[in-house]
Amino acid sequence: MRTASTAAAWRERAAALFPGGVNSPVRAYRAVGGEPPILVRGEGAYVWDADGNRYLDYVGAFGPLLLGHAHPSVVEAISRAAAEGGSFGATAPAEVRLAELIQERMPSIERIRFVNSGTEAAMSALRVARAATGRELVIKFDGGYHGHADSLLVEAGSGVATLSLPGSAGVPAAVAAQTLVATYNDLNSVQRLLDTHPRQVAAVIVEPVAANMGVVPPQPGFLEGLRRLAEEAGALLVFDEVITGFRVAPGGAQELYGVRPDLTVLGKIIGGGLPVGAYGGRADLLDLVAPAGPVYQAGTLSGHPLVMAAGEATLAQLTPELYRAVEGRADRLEEGLRRPGVSVNRVGSLLTLFFRDRAPVDFAEARESDTDLFARFFNSLRDRGVLLPPSQYEAWFLSAAHDDEAISTTLEALPA
Ligand SMILES: *Cc1c(COP(=O)(O)O)cnc(C)c1O
Repeated sequence: MRTASTAAAWRERAAALFPGGVNSPVRAYRAVGGEPPILVRGEGAYVWDADGNRYLDYVGAFGPLLLGHAHPSVVEAISRAAAEGGSFGATAPAEVRLAELIQERMPSIERIRFVNSGTEAAMSALRVARAATGRELVIKFDGGYHGHADSLLVEAGSGVATLSLPGSAGVPAAVAAQTLVATYNDLNSVQRLLDTHPRQVAAVIVEPVAANMGVVPPQPGFLEGLRRLAEEAGALLVFDEVITGFRVAPGGAQELYGVRPDLTVLGKIIGGGLPVGAYGGRADLLDLVAPAGPVYQAGTLSGHPLVMAAGEATLAQLTPELYRAVEGRADRLEEGLRRPGVSVNRVGSLLTLFFRDRAPVDFAEARESDTDLFARFFNSLRDRGVLLPPSQYEAWFLSAAHDDEAISTTLEALPA
């Protein structure tokens, strides 16, 4: 058995094992350069690398950690669930309790099905939409990310954009052709696709706040317009709230903007940092799923007791006061980041600093950001102990553990 204690040694071993040295592409730091960190511990707003360096962390595991790392009540819930036995392959009370907590906060979720990742959830929600409508096409938005299922890897935002890939190799052309791509915040682009494909579009899937092209909020009327266009066309409206769910408001973006989708895709926060996904919505739609209906979808580890316990412990902490506190600090950070030549988009505790003087409203504009400047900015903050998401096209994730001192530390670390 070799020993490896330094980050460099771990990176070398990882490089021999995993494609690009990682188990998810953005972790390789291709867009910002430098050696990707090997992280060994997290607590609150901070993480530690294998060389013993501490960083103030704005990655937040890319979304789940609204309470910060290793929140005591989440750790306790996981430990307790682990001690009671792992996975039963049968329904357990924790699934019911977490589903009820979700439903209370998100009333559009009349029924729900837990899965193991956001990817699975989005893929399954669209399967339901296709079954319900008897149609095959789906409209997504340029720069919107809904996981890596074949049909959704078309113009898919952050991860692929960071690598400058148009989509993905290995996706059959016939599958990619089922996905039509509209422009975020542009209702006309959606109307045109619906007009040119009459009675063929099963669903419009959207991140209600785009967060995988950097954060780009919906313009007033955009989500309401999507609701109306989908209805007129007989298509379903699917909100991918994997990031926004339980982050931008207690009831997610659908509460914040007052638009009710037919189906909602969830992940990240509802698993408290463990692997999770869920899709839910109208009862008549979810009742198409097996064994209630003909749409097959299954999962050996779905609704896993440890994951459900972590999600339940997380949601239990998410009071209106907590949202207000996190957002107040996010607002302070936003103000401190503003300066000539850059722009900031923020919704609640999600924000992105763009190296572009006007805040982008769609992916084409987001891509006009100066990514070399972003890389320099990223590395100068990293050198000062502040770890940002390693791409211009990712959101910064604040947590409840990012206190005033953490915000001050960040602002003091900014390059002059
Ligand atoms: C992260 C993400 C997904 C995919 O979730 P995974 O758990 O990584 O498969 C889907 N949609 C959005 C909006 C996401 O941010």
